[in-house]
Amino acid sequence: MVDNGVLALFDIDGTLVRGARCHYQAFVHAVRKFYGVKDDISGINYAGKTDPQILMEVLELSGIKETLIKQHLQDCLDYMTRYYLANVHRENVQALGGVKKLLGELQRRKVLMGLTTGNLEPIAHAKLGRVGLDSYFPLGGFGSDYPQRRCLVKKAIKCARQNFGYKGNSIFVIGDTPRDVNAGKSTGALTIGVATGRYTTHELEKSGADFVLNDLTDKNEFLEIIF
Ligand SMILES: [Mg+2]
Repeated sequence: MVDNGVLALFDIDGTLVRGARCHYQAFVHAVRKFYGVKDDISGINYAGKTDPQILMEVLELSGIKETLIKQHLQDCLDYMTRYYLANVHRENVQALGGVKKLLGELQRRKVLMGLTTGNLEPIAHAKLGRVGLDSYFPLGGFGSDYPQRRCLVKKAIKCARQNFGYKGNSIFVIGDTPRDVNAGKSTGALTIGVATGRYTTHELEKSGADFVLNDLTDKNEFLEIIF
């Protein structure tokens, strides 16, 4: 069993990777197809939100009625997934500095790793697959599980305990936004804010992160925190 007492749960966008043009296009095409929304949706702050949350926000801002939103929501999310998987070869995703080395080291030290991301699950795997990072994460909580981030973090922890025999209490939630920090804290996990997204170290500290890093380039700095 891969378990040395530490469970590390990583956000994806802004934490492990950057670049999600195709993911953004999936939103654009889906809201156009199902709701006729042609507005520019690039002005929305997506950081730390789940895909269903983003979709709801886009549609509400476009004046779509709640009953209509709900009626087509699942079909719209399914279409987003299909669009993404069909176009992922065009995704401009890149692993952030130090990430590959860090994950390799954590795997070597038998740290159980999971994902806690607002991405729909198939999109999360495909995106990470593009940069060779998907195999590090046998478990996770995703936007397709729950629209609320704290719920998907809880789900990932439950999955680690039930399906991977995780018995430790050294759980870390690693993310680039105050939303990751809040979700992690709500489950009692320790949180590591990483300032590789749109939030500064100061903002992540203010949000209550237990630890804050500029980036993941120094694996020893990260190891010191978790061990
Ligand atoms: Mg993020």
